[in-house]
Amino acid sequence: MSAPPGGADGRCLIGIDIGGTAIKLGRLRGGARELEAFRTLPTGAARPVDAVLDDLARALRTLTTEAPALGFGVGIPGTLTRDGRIDVLPNFAPGWRGVAVAERLERSCGLPGVVVNDAHAFILAEARVGAAAGARSAFGVTLGTGVGGGLVIDGRVHLGASGNAGQFGHHVFDAHGPRCGCGSHGCIETYASAPALVASVMRPFVQGAVPALVRLAGGRLEAVTPALIAAAAAAGDPICREALERLALVLGVGLADVATLMSPECIVIGGGMAGLGEALFDPLRRTLAAYARTAEVHRPALVAAALGARAGALGAALYAGDAFG
Ligand SMILES: [Zn+2]
Repeated sequence: MSAPPGGADGRCLIGIDIGGTAIKLGRLRGGARELEAFRTLPTGAARPVDAVLDDLARALRTLTTEAPALGFGVGIPGTLTRDGRIDVLPNFAPGWRGVAVAERLERSCGLPGVVVNDAHAFILAEARVGAAAGARSAFGVTLGTGVGGGLVIDGRVHLGASGNAGQFGHHVFDAHGPRCGCGSHGCIETYASAPALVASVMRPFVQGAVPALVRLAGGRLEAVTPALIAAAAAAGDPICREALERLALVLGVGLADVATLMSPECIVIGGGMAGLGEALFDPLRRTLAAYARTAEVHRPALVAAALGARAGALGAALYAGDAFG
């Protein structure tokens, strides 16, 4: 169903995951399912493009000096054009639009490279060797500061005509909802990201209406996290419980749409908020069951991601393997 990870002749592939705070990279040997020589370096996203790319080229050269490589893949936390240029890269310094990251690194390292959206890389890794291994089709959602998504069919990422198919975070939940960073209104990301969840309990927090959460956060609003909201909900706080139910409703209705339209065998939830466990998964399963009625016979399995924080870099290496392996 899927090509073996890594290069067939034993040579390596390099996987890189550029995040807002850290760049993660490692080497994938032929036939291996895990990265080796994994390392991280600070992104310094506020720095100019050249400074970030110089650091990246240096790290890439070190990895390829240690062991010969067939090529590299770079996961990008933004949208890409079909010819591999960055379109929108939120939370980075201006100047990234139009940059062909793989081409620039190819020139400085002499190694062929490809770029891939980071959520696409995540679900590719989970579908090949992670939580959805064995499923012919899997939809992945990353829940963190933003909300990402992607669809893998028969071991390949579905890019779509735009190259950016599967952007679950910008699936519209309410056309009359708040304006989203993408320019649309009421996107799932405006309700279901970590900052949106924290924002939903801010007012009750300052009003003292969520005493369990205030206690857990030591009275500091800036200490509130999705994990603390889940802990307060588990301790019986009705407002925190409701905030999680609301988040699960938005996500669950969105996933019910995915199940109805695309009928994947498996839905993988990853990103920081997947760590909320059953506090999230239980209401999510209920919502999915309530709204995905035509997908009832083959309702997708809803599972937590299995590969952790290295999934993006691993997926980028697998993506490179499809191109150069
Ligand atoms: Zn949006």
